[in-house]
Amino acid sequence: MKDIKKLVRPNIAALTPYSTARDEYKGSLGILMDANENPYDNSVNRYPSTSQKEAVRARVAALKGVSPEKLFLGNGSDEAIDLCYRVFCEPGRDNAVIIAPSYGMYGVCADINNVERRMVLLEPETFALPVERLLAAVDSDTRLMFVCSPNNPTGNAFAAADIERLAASFEGILVVDEAYIDFSSKPGVLPLIDRYENVIVLQTLSKAWGLAGLRIGLAMSNPYIISLFRQVKYPYNIGTDTLALALEKLQADIAPQVAEIVAERDRLAGLLPAFKCVQKVYPSDANFLLVKVDEPRGLYDALLKAGLIVRDRSTVALCEGCLRITVGTPDENEKLLKAIEDYES
Ligand SMILES: *Cc1c(COP(=O)(O)O)cnc(C)c1O
Repeated sequence: MKDIKKLVRPNIAALTPYSTARDEYKGSLGILMDANENPYDNSVNRYPSTSQKEAVRARVAALKGVSPEKLFLGNGSDEAIDLCYRVFCEPGRDNAVIIAPSYGMYGVCADINNVERRMVLLEPETFALPVERLLAAVDSDTRLMFVCSPNNPTGNAFAAADIERLAASFEGILVVDEAYIDFSSKPGVLPLIDRYENVIVLQTLSKAWGLAGLRIGLAMSNPYIISLFRQVKYPYNIGTDTLALALEKLQADIAPQVAEIVAERDRLAGLLPAFKCVQKVYPSDANFLLVKVDEPRGLYDALLKAGLIVRDRSTVALCEGCLRITVGTPDENEKLLKAIEDYES
């Protein structure tokens, strides 16, 4: 068992967290004169209630099959990424090892927190997880390691056994971002949080759940790490309307829509290689495709003229020549195919 407590910044371990009026009084009965709110009801004049947040937490926890004390709800996964740095990394001293290419926020949050970032390139073309090189980048000041699976922008999910090797060998905190796990044919690594004290799994309601505008991200780990996140977060990090809407939207059955997106992804992956300008479509376990083309900027501009906005990743290391295309509705995907056809003719 790893000693997680010694990885926590001393000021965080010693923190007396801010206690809100609603932490101290959780009820809703009576006349509330404790939080300096405006007393006139307009449906959002009160600070978010603890019970409402707990209801969302209980629902998400049940969906994920974890107990609520192992789940943190953040203002997007981005809040959870930032909290990893704020809880575990001493600015100006500690460092984080991050796979590349991957999601930009791991590096941006490192920069914001004045934490050195050590970028480790994936294996070229296969985009496989370079387990040995990641471990070789670690030194005694490495507190965090970020892995994203399925990875953005490469689209591939890593073998669970490779991720587990990192969890077992790395002495710091391994953060596995599974924002796209609902689209993946491979199993995720959520069960690792019960076997390794140093694992945090991030997921989100922004992708498969279709709730990007709500800003709700999930961090799942052992109760100790989750309690640290809850102490360091902003007091009311998720608003009343967001919580109410989340509880309503979480009643949906997303499986049919996810299945359609996956089917459309696979259909596009089958059709795109037929175009002359397409050199390669990388295998995807996510809701987007990384596509290598002859002239990425030219195709990007042509698609833009046709009213289609894709992501140009051609200047990113190992993604030279690549556009990242998010899978749309069947109708949108038809428009994409037609636009590429027009571009070629
Ligand atoms: C889209 C995405 C997220 C989601 O972030 P939110 O803040 O939850 O919307 C997280 N990680 C990766 C890799 C992503 O691509």
